[in-house]
Amino acid sequence: MNFTVFSRGDADSNKISNKIKRYLEEFQLTYNSEEPDVVISVGGDGTLLEAYHQYTHRLSDTSFVGVHTGHLGFYADWQPEEVEKLVIHIAETPFKVVEYPLLEVIIRHHGERQSERFLALNECSVRSMEGSLVMDVEIKGNLFETFRGDGLCISTPSGSTAYNKALGGAIVHPSIPCLQLAEMASINNRVYRTIGSPLVLPQHHTCLLKPVSSVDFQVTLDHLTLLQQNVESIQCRVAEEKIRFARFRPFPFWKRVKESFITE
Ligand code: NAP
Ligand code: MN
Repeated sequence: MNFTVFSRGDADSNKISNKIKRYLEEFQLTYNSEEPDVVISVGGDGTLLEAYHQYTHRLSDTSFVGVHTGHLGFYADWQPEEVEKLVIHIAETPFKVVEYPLLEVIIRHHGERQSERFLALNECSVRSMEGSLVMDVEIKGNLFETFRGDGLCISTPSGSTAYNKALGGAIVHPSIPCLQLAEMASINNRVYRTIGSPLVLPQHHTCLLKPVSSVDFQVTLDHLTLLQQNVESIQCRVAEEKIRFARFRPFPFWKRVKESFITE
């Protein structure tokens, strides 16, 4: 079995990463960062997001597991003191995997036949580079509203505890394949009107954002920020692909939420 280790890059995470690599090689596992079966992320959620984006082209052959070195680590199940235990679990394959839904984002540009496709683990957010964001929001091919405000955030269930939560969105269990559309400071008055509540869309219900004028947009995908010009539309829906997490012991989602936001 092939594995790779992805470190946040600080001294502590590098030390733990080297230890994991050494131990797994002693168990005759092969270090292969091109085609890993298991990706061990050592750091926080930002590290796991980075590691995930390195392997979006081979999600059905890759499982992720996170080791926590400070910060929040909502996605990271293992503490540094537990790496010996984790290594033994990994070496004793096959292991159990759980799958979480992802968000597919397709960005089309005026005058270009080729579109850009992304898979977000947390969310995609859209803002205007100048003035308010003004976007027609279509759901399942029908105009739902014209949004005016700071921006829109489209999150996955596992991303619902991240930026979406700060916007007043609901926390969604990742066994529900859906996406959530949350508003950032919408303008609501006699002239302009948006729904005002976060919306949860099931699988196959596409949310299409269409610019009303030709301004530039700032689009984020998890930790990545893109400048988008000439945008015709931004299409969001639940992806066919899923992310796989290697689960060596139960860690129920609601326990994860409690430990991250209420108390350990
Ligand atoms: P960051 O600025 O370090 O992330 C902000 C915080 O969100 C960190 O504490 C991070 O944990 C945590 N986080 C990431 N994914 C999470 C999840 N699924 N559930 C709960 N908490 C989560 O930047 P980053 O580490 O590169 O992460 C990028 C993410 O930050 C974005 O996808 C977005 O969701 C989030 N973000 C949140 C806000 C906000 O809440 N107002 C604003 C901007 C971005 P770690 O400390 O373990 O990395
Ligand atoms: Mn971070």
